[in-house]
Amino acid sequence: MLKFDFYESGHGETTIITFPDNGIGIIDAYPSQSNSRPDILKLIENKIIHFICLTHPHDDHAKDLATITNPSADACVPVLWHTITDIHQWAYYSTEFNAFPAGSMQNAIKRIRKETAMTTIKLFENIAHRNINTHKLRNDLVAKNIAGVEIYCLSPTEKVQQKFISKEVRSKNRFPDPNKLSAILAFHYGKTVFIHGGDALKSNWFDAAEKFFSLHIPNATIIKIPHHGSANSFSFKKTKHQHNYLDLCDANKAIKSILFAGDSTHPNEAVYQELLKNSTVYCTANGLKTADSDPLNIGFSIPGCQYISNSNICNPMISFECDQLGNINVISGHDCSACS
Ligand SMILES: [Zn+2]
Ligand SMILES: [Zn+2]
Ligand SMILES: [Zn+2]
Repeated sequence: MLKFDFYESGHGETTIITFPDNGIGIIDAYPSQSNSRPDILKLIENKIIHFICLTHPHDDHAKDLATITNPSADACVPVLWHTITDIHQWAYYSTEFNAFPAGSMQNAIKRIRKETAMTTIKLFENIAHRNINTHKLRNDLVAKNIAGVEIYCLSPTEKVQQKFISKEVRSKNRFPDPNKLSAILAFHYGKTVFIHGGDALKSNWFDAAEKFFSLHIPNATIIKIPHHGSANSFSFKKTKHQHNYLDLCDANKAIKSILFAGDSTHPNEAVYQELLKNSTVYCTANGLKTADSDPLNIGFSIPGCQYISNSNICNPMISFECDQLGNINVISGHDCSACS
């Protein structure tokens, strides 16, 4: 059996995969703001960890990976999968604040960005301190096999990674969106295929689709919707070169999509309608229930993940158990037809 557990985290994400040998892989982790997710160290207690994975360097995906790797935690982590091009880039991040106009707003941005950068730096500090291996993900690498499950990296491409560095270094006033670096992973177990979309953006899906189709594996029946259901991760255009992530999925209602919407601006309404049309949506929290574009009336947003306000929790945990025949057993959680 292959099991997927998705935990509500307010605005962050936690995915735990249990492989047929009972070992686990953790993709991104963030504590629940409403305490509806148990402590991460409790969740992984007495488990054999195959890997932890940071899809991309945003705090809402990274924070509890730093907890797991903290020297005071006794979790045995053999390897961190990640997509970060160079840790120096992130040190640079923490001191580069020119993108926003001066004034008190800039101080707020400064603080938020610094905290975000510090989580990633802390994670890598832990990794170095505990001598944990790192494995940089890229879509031209060979598949990994864990207990009979083939794992393919569909994104990012080497080109995206290189572009990211050159933009970062050359630009004084703008920095590239870390979501562009997001890993997209496909898990193939017989007729079960799960795609974890990280926070990948529209452009990432063109290369990911090309790679996916070249693998000749069945289309996915479970997908973790990228970037909290934002419009910038979904292409509505239907041409040969403009794939969106639903093109990698089985074209019928049997698709189960997992939506970590998480704040009052996610998911995008049109994307959400498209997901409802093409899949059975399971959301952890759904911002549309408390939709208000600027509930605190602060008048700005930050590129990439947004921290605005919490939304109502639909499912504290969504859990599927899958076999090699493609059967999906819903252990925990209800779909969005029960969300109003
Ligand atoms: Zn992100
Ligand atoms: Zn995110
Ligand atoms: Zn829902």
